[in-house]
Amino acid sequence: MPPIAITPPAENETTTDLTTAGIKDALKKTAPSQLKSAALTDDITNLPPTPKTENGTETPLRELDASRLKCTYTTSPRPVPAAGSAEQASQRVCTDHMIQAHWTSSTGWQDPSLQPYGPLSLMPTASCLHYATECFEGMKLYRGYDGKLRLFRPELNCNRMLMSTNRIALPAFPPSELLKLIAALCATDGPKWLPRDNPGAFLYIRPTMIASDPALGVQRPNEALLFVILTCFPPMDHLPAGMNLLASHDDMCRAWPGGFGYAKVGANYGPSLLAQGEARSRGFHQILWLFGPDCAVTEAGASNFFVVWRSRAGVVQLVTAGLGDRIVLDGVTRRSVLELARGRLAAGEGYAGLERVEVVERTYTMQEVVEAAEEGRLIEAFAAGTAWFVAPVARIHFRGREFGVPMGKEGRMGEYTRVLKSWLRGIMWGVEGWEGHEWGHVVEEEE
Ligand SMILES: *Cc1c(COP(=O)(O)O)cnc(C)c1O
Repeated sequence: MPPIAITPPAENETTTDLTTAGIKDALKKTAPSQLKSAALTDDITNLPPTPKTENGTETPLRELDASRLKCTYTTSPRPVPAAGSAEQASQRVCTDHMIQAHWTSSTGWQDPSLQPYGPLSLMPTASCLHYATECFEGMKLYRGYDGKLRLFRPELNCNRMLMSTNRIALPAFPPSELLKLIAALCATDGPKWLPRDNPGAFLYIRPTMIASDPALGVQRPNEALLFVILTCFPPMDHLPAGMNLLASHDDMCRAWPGGFGYAKVGANYGPSLLAQGEARSRGFHQILWLFGPDCAVTEAGASNFFVVWRSRAGVVQLVTAGLGDRIVLDGVTRRSVLELARGRLAAGEGYAGLERVEVVERTYTMQEVVEAAEEGRLIEAFAAGTAWFVAPVARIHFRGREFGVPMGKEGRMGEYTRVLKSWLRGIMWGVEGWEGHEWGHVVEEEE
C-alpha cells in the first residue's frame, strides 16, 4: 500500500477548533449580519472568504427578513379544545396557522410565509430524516391576568436557536427576525386560541429548523426549512405531591464534554426516551441525569435541576450545575431563577422571613446531595424549564436507594421554590405589580 500523503498544516492555520471555524464559516455564508454579535462568538478573526460567483462578485445571499412575510389565512378554522379536555392534553392540536421559511445555500432565505397549519412535504432522502439535522426551541405564549398576551424573554430563545443551528450546520439568521415571525404568528392566532376571559392559559410555541436537502450524502445541508407552530399543551406543574426522579444508571448519559448537550438539537432527545419510558413505567416523572464516575448531577429530564441545602459551614445555598462543561442546557428558566435569586434572595437580610441564600453554579455530585439529605441539611429541590415550569421534587431514587426531599407544610412546595415560582409567574402572566417587568414581551394583538 502506498503511504498516505498528509498535507502539513499552513503556518497560520489553527486545527484545534473545528466547531468555531465551522460556525464562523456558516455565519459568513448565511447571516453575515450576525458576525459581529459579541454574544454569539468569542473570537471573530480569521474569517473565511465570502463565496464568489463566476464573474468574481460576492454572492448576494438573502438573510431572513420578517418584513417580507406573506400571509395566507385559513378558510377552515379549527375548533379550540376546551380547557382541561383530553384533546388539549394530547399535545396533538395546533392552532390555525404556522410560519415557514425556506433556505438554500445558493439563494439564502426566501420570503417567509404565514399559512394555514398543515403537513410538510419532504422527500424520503431529506437530510433531517437520516442525520438528525434538526433543532428546536420551546417557549410559551401567556394570556395575562391584565388581558395582555406575553412572551417570556423570547430573545434568549431566538439567540439559543441560532447557537443550536450553528452547532449542526444549519443556516444562520438574525435572531430578531425570528422573534418578529414568532410574534406575528402569536398575534394572528393568540386572540382566538387564548381568549381574554381565560387568563392564566398558555400555548406552547415550537420554532424548529430542519435540513430538507433531498440528497442522501452525509454532508453539510444545502437546503433548510424553518417553521414555527403553536400547540395546545397541558400545565405540567400541578404536582401536589412533588416530582419523583429516577437517577440515571451508569450505562447511559445524556451529554458529554465535547458533545452537544448545550444545544437544543433533536439528537439529544431521541436516545433519552428509552430511559425516560422506563422511569415512567416505574412511577417516576423524569430521569435525573448524572454524569461520570463521580455521578455529577446535571439535569432532570428536559429541565434544569436545583437544590437548596445548608452547607456544612451553615450557609443556605441554591445550587445548580454550571455551564462550563457544555453538557447542561442554558435554560431561560434556569437563568431567570438564578438572576431573581441573586437579586432578591442573596442580598441583605433575605426575603420575607426567608434566610438569605448564596447562589452557586458549580459541578456537584449525587454523593453531596445524599449526604445533605442524611445530615438533615437538604432543604428543597426543584426542576425548572419552560414545559414543567417550576416543579418541586419530593423523592429521588439513586441506584437502589431512595430518599425524600423536604417539601413545604401540608403538601405545599418548599418556600424558596414557591417564592421563585411566584415571581416568574407574576412576570409571565402580568400579575398585578409585575405587568411592566422587562422580561415580559407583550404581543400586540390584531383586533
Ligand atoms: C429546554 C430544556 C431545558 C429548559 O430550558 P428553558 O429555556 O428553561 O425551557 C433544560 N434542559 C434541557 C435538556 C432542555 O432541553
